[in-house]
Amino acid sequence: MTAAYDVVQVASLGPQFDERLAASCRVLQAWREPRGLAAFSEELRGLRVAVTSVRHGFTRSMFDALPGLQAVCSWGVGHDTLDLRAAAARGIRVSVTPDVLDDCVADLAWALLLSAARRTAVGDRYVKTGQWRALGQFPVATRVSGKRLGVLGLGRIGEAIARRGAGFDMEVRYHNRSPRPQSPYGYEASLTDLAAWADFLVVACVGGAATRHLVDAQVIRALGPQGILVNIARGSVVDQAAALAALRSGELGGAGLDVLEQEPTDAAEFAELDQVSLMPHVGSATRETRAAMAELVYDNVTEFLRTGRLLTPVPDREMQA
Ligand code: NAP
Repeated sequence: MTAAYDVVQVASLGPQFDERLAASCRVLQAWREPRGLAAFSEELRGLRVAVTSVRHGFTRSMFDALPGLQAVCSWGVGHDTLDLRAAAARGIRVSVTPDVLDDCVADLAWALLLSAARRTAVGDRYVKTGQWRALGQFPVATRVSGKRLGVLGLGRIGEAIARRGAGFDMEVRYHNRSPRPQSPYGYEASLTDLAAWADFLVVACVGGAATRHLVDAQVIRALGPQGILVNIARGSVVDQAAALAALRSGELGGAGLDVLEQEPTDAAEFAELDQVSLMPHVGSATRETRAAMAELVYDNVTEFLRTGRLLTPVPDREMQA
């Protein structure tokens, strides 16, 4: 008996994507069912490809529910919510959507850096709430151009962040687990040394257990009272309690955070901290980039159904990590 479906979609990627995929192959839209995959049994048997997103992830129990699965195509670049070990153990390939989002995430890192340093969000409120007229001059802020930029995680996004530093006449250094021989930027083997050197430390490494609280109290103290921490990676990489304590005591100068340890949140603990600029995890959230990400998921699914290959697979070494 032939299977009724080729693809299971566990998350909607927007009406345009959903309709386009449904028009080009046989898709089981499991996200329409509140119980998800648990609502199906026979239908799941012959399914070869699953579509998900970084937010919805793909767990071991999802793999268990899909005995014929050969590939998972995920929307987004982080794979901290995808159980890559379970995939590797079953010989299942996984694709993400790298490269197409680098510029927008890097742009947002710079928006947060500039906002934390020059207080643009605070200034906006200052004008709109009548404080400019009532109180006069806005307090002086922190210079950006010509300063030292430290990047934790010089990967695709980290590179794009570092490149933008040239436009601000900045010297750039980075920390990865291993140096990148072709990189024009200086390598710091110790993250604490990088933080001590930098005026701005931008976090752009992967999330997950291996990088949890990599930016700890010691790194934060090394960045110092004039330093600014920017995080566009994952909330888990920064010890948020330590960062909050340092911001309150003045041991850390400021922060620009697109990601937090709990999401979504009203971040009440940050409410009184004007030296902190927050965004609701929107690094890649521009119309253009979101369309490019959806296109890449679509291309991965259709390529796999046609040829058995993925266009942007997670590399083998990361599947085993
Ligand atoms: P990538 O190209 O794989 O780069 C990741 C970098 O992290 C690499 O340079 C890697 O270098 C470094 N790294 C990994 N583990 C490390 C460790 N333990 N210590 C120090 N450095 C480490 O990934 P990407 O495409 O640039 O994306 C980076 C991350 O950005 C994603 O994983 C995701 O979590 C986040 N992101 C956020 C948004 C948002 O909306 N805010 C959007 C997209 C992505 P080594 O391997 O040499 O250590």
